[in-house]
Amino acid sequence: AGKGRWDTIHGAGLRDTEETIFDKIVAGDIPSEKVYEDDLCLAFKDVAPCAPVHVLLIPKHRNDLSQLRKAQPEHVGLLGHLMSKVGAVAEAAGLDDYRVVVNDGAGAGQTVFHLHVHVIGGRELAWPPG
Ligand code: 5GP
Repeated sequence: AGKGRWDTIHGAGLRDTEETIFDKIVAGDIPSEKVYEDDLCLAFKDVAPCAPVHVLLIPKHRNDLSQLRKAQPEHVGLLGHLMSKVGAVAEAAGLDDYRVVVNDGAGAGQTVFHLHVHVIGGRELAWPPG
């Protein structure tokens, strides 16, 4: 138990190999409002925004990264790429200052088990977050 393909995601009962709604968005089977795209990642507007601007930045291929805690040495390049593109995503979305959030686990609010970075802004953002 613990590390295999059939590892159960905390709180979700989902297998690492199962598709999520984000695969359908990447494939274009579910429409999305794209903000930024390159070979490795896609950014699109969140369907249920929590702020005037709320964008999700995801790797196009999940590569077993259902959530941040699954990160392994082979993911370092992809994770670095995602972080290095946050500024471009925010600029494309018209943001000046913004917040970057990764919910890791159902108890932290994660509902889609394909790693994604929330880029949130367009209003005053309280700290600490709720
Ligand atoms: P999480 O709660 O896992 O951190 O974030 C998942 C996000 O995906 C939520 O903010 C939710 O509103 C968004 N979301 C879920 N389904 C869709 C969809 O079909 N299209 C878009 N654009 N966003 C979605």
